[in-house]
Amino acid sequence: MVTCQWTIHHGWAAPKLQPFGPLSIMPSASCLHYATQCFEGLKLYRGYDGKLRLFRPELNATRLLMSATRVALPAFDPKELLSLMAALCAVDGRKWLPDPGTFLYMRPLVIANDPALGVKRPHEALICIMLSCYLTMDHGLFTDGLRIQASKDNMVRAWPGGYGFAKVGANYGTMLAAQAEALDRRYDQILWLFGPEREITEAGAANIFFVWRNLETDRLELVTPSLSQLILDGITRKSVIELAKDRLTDIDVVERRVTISEVFVAAEEGRLLEVFVTGTAYFVVGVQEISWTSTISLPIGERSCGKYALIFKNWMEDIMYGKMEHSWGYVVKEQPA
Ligand code: PLP
Repeated sequence: MVTCQWTIHHGWAAPKLQPFGPLSIMPSASCLHYATQCFEGLKLYRGYDGKLRLFRPELNATRLLMSATRVALPAFDPKELLSLMAALCAVDGRKWLPDPGTFLYMRPLVIANDPALGVKRPHEALICIMLSCYLTMDHGLFTDGLRIQASKDNMVRAWPGGYGFAKVGANYGTMLAAQAEALDRRYDQILWLFGPEREITEAGAANIFFVWRNLETDRLELVTPSLSQLILDGITRKSVIELAKDRLTDIDVVERRVTISEVFVAAEEGRLLEVFVTGTAYFVVGVQEISWTSTISLPIGERSCGKYALIFKNWMEDIMYGKMEHSWGYVVKEQPA
């Protein structure tokens, strides 16, 4: 793992590359009490051309900076963070990722490790970057697509003025109880709604897309909730939107407020063709069922996807695994063996 310590008096120290192992922090450390922490998640891919790649990692680096700022953690240069991520990938990729078509998960983390208790802006912080193995969604998980359940009225994931747009741990721990209950009822994720209109925000730790036919224009639309303080600016979401605008002419891309009743009306009218979620962990997975006041069922095809989800999945995989040279594929320079 890579670690780098910051103090308010000396700034960032020289980073260290060291074996993965326990961190030493005081029980009084700020992050353990006041949720002064944030993180990122991305994948390291071994391409079919033998090269190691990250997918748009500069966006993860700038998003980590944005999240850090939200919880009063110190600023850093995102370019420097990216070079630390790449340095770790260069060392671990050779050892742990020899086979083309495979990936590892990378987790950059920032915590405030001030030793003294006190509700105040942290004076000490640590960046830690680690790599880990991760189950692929194509190996038996969600092969028939996801079953998602709309959140109940007594719980929201995020709210205006809050921190739903930042990747801070406080967004995740607080949804685990609801998620565990959903799992007990054999749902894979919660579809988080917000406000009296039951606006759709996100599905678990993923962004959501709908493919439907617009009643007025009779055109196909790829619709996703527009970014707000309630939604994480997902890199997979952004990539799907950009690819659709760039390469597809048969479907209009629409970012706007979406309510759950609209989705159910479109389904009743036979206009809802496909629903899918996007995110680094799930990547692109079709939704086979949405449960709210009643239940919508949707067909799922090849590789747990509908028609459009599969197109985006294939296009992005081509970039991730180097089947297509693209500026989104960041090649990690490896040291010679
Ligand atoms: N929404 C939340 C809450 C997430 O945790 C994630 C996962 O990182 C996403 C959306 C998807 O973001 P990305 O595509 O950058 O992984």
